[in-house]
Amino acid sequence: MNFFEYRGRELYCEEVPVERIAAEVGTPFYLYSASTIERHFTVFTQAFSAVEHIVCYSVKANSNLAVLRLLADLGAGADIVSGGELYRAMRAGIPAQKIVFSGVGKRVEEIRQALDAGILMFNVESAQELHAINSTAREMSRKAPLALRVNPDVDPKTHPYISTGLKKNKFGIPVTEALALYRDAAAMDHVQVVGVDCHIGSQLTTSEPFGEAVRRIMGLVGKLEGEGIPIRYVDVGGGLGIVYDEESPPLPSNYAETIIQALGTRDRTVILEPGRVIVGNAGILVSRVLYNKKGATREFVIVDAAMNDLIRPSLYGAYQQVVPVIRAEDREEQIVDVVGPVCESTDFLARDHKLPAVTSGELIAVMSAGAYGFPMSSQYNSRPRVAEVMVRGDRYQVVRDRESHEDLIRGERFFKE
Ligand SMILES: *Cc1c(COP(=O)(O)O)cnc(C)c1O
Repeated sequence: MNFFEYRGRELYCEEVPVERIAAEVGTPFYLYSASTIERHFTVFTQAFSAVEHIVCYSVKANSNLAVLRLLADLGAGADIVSGGELYRAMRAGIPAQKIVFSGVGKRVEEIRQALDAGILMFNVESAQELHAINSTAREMSRKAPLALRVNPDVDPKTHPYISTGLKKNKFGIPVTEALALYRDAAAMDHVQVVGVDCHIGSQLTTSEPFGEAVRRIMGLVGKLEGEGIPIRYVDVGGGLGIVYDEESPPLPSNYAETIIQALGTRDRTVILEPGRVIVGNAGILVSRVLYNKKGATREFVIVDAAMNDLIRPSLYGAYQQVVPVIRAEDREEQIVDVVGPVCESTDFLARDHKLPAVTSGELIAVMSAGAYGFPMSSQYNSRPRVAEVMVRGDRYQVVRDRESHEDLIRGERFFKE
């Protein structure tokens, strides 16, 4: 459920007409509904109320400070994958004791930064990384709390580019090798094994792969505890899907039920790392139509947002619904490609998309753009990154300024002869 809806002919975000924001802020811009984020987070965390749990929001899905602050105020922790994300999470007020650090390529400076901050745990993705963490912690006379990220080899049945829990993926430690590496870790002086972790992919639309993954890692937990290596935290990752088109992902309550059942015990703390399900349908990208163009075989609607602003359609062939911000009556529907000004043939926001005829100057909204939208944006074609706006009730605020041309060349300099 989200708070973007038509009232009469006009698209609203909560109590604010989207057109009013466009008139003041200009286009394109991302628009986030604070009440939607709050609702998604609350429903998600309540679904797990039967067990001790920490919801570590996956910062990479949307890392705007205003989004992070909102989640921090609701009690969220964070799942981070870089020193930059750690910096953002801390600046937003997320307590270090609720931060887990994932990712296959943690640099020594980042490990140091996380130890300094006092994070909850590292999710370790390789033997070499384990050694790097141990030696960094030794230099700092610390003990690094950690889990191994285990690759349970479960098919999440999602897009190959966003599946992470298969043998062939770069993520995690094969479940067959995990036990040996845990023994190594348990023998190290400067690390402390506290958990086990997995994350099998993103945009999953069924619960079974989550259940299967958790059963497999709980098998490992049984063996570890049999060897005297206690496991306090079971981190089951993120990945719950959302509705972009006609998917029917499980409700958070069904998802929680599957996971709690697969855990088989209630005396461990569950860590969850949801990203998309919290913010995906809480954001849209608003853009203005520049031109209509009839190609030889297709109709193009050329808009002022492009693949550099929202790359999911180009990168994954992802579907995102496009709608007019003002619905005019008696408009014929057309099948069009919605494209941007970037000089690449893959620059499209939608393909073969049914859209009421919209013409120059009108506004369109790309729905479900709150996750992996702005954070994946770039300045390609020297296009300044767009503004981000947040609505709460009948108020809205720019939570990230549109970049200027000066921002484009910040830090650049001429070569001195
Ligand atoms: C990306 C990611 C997540 C979040 O995935 P969603 O599909 O957005 O829920 C969680 N954990 C890890 C380790 C990730 O890489």
